[in-house]
Amino acid sequence: MCSVGGPMVDIDLKKVTSRKCKCLDCGNEFKGVGKKVRCPSCQSENVECSE
Ligand SMILES: [Zn+2]
Repeated sequence: MCSVGGPMVDIDLKKVTSRKCKCLDCGNEFKGVGKKVRCPSCQSENVECSE
């Protein structure tokens, strides 16, 4: 019953979708991942994302 030979290399840690986001405070464009997206530049949560 046990199939030995194929190591499970493909591990899904988290299924995340990245979106294109833009910070409305500093205008920085980045890839947003997750529900709560923060600007990596100024840490602002005032970002706009397109899906
Ligand atoms: Zn920003």
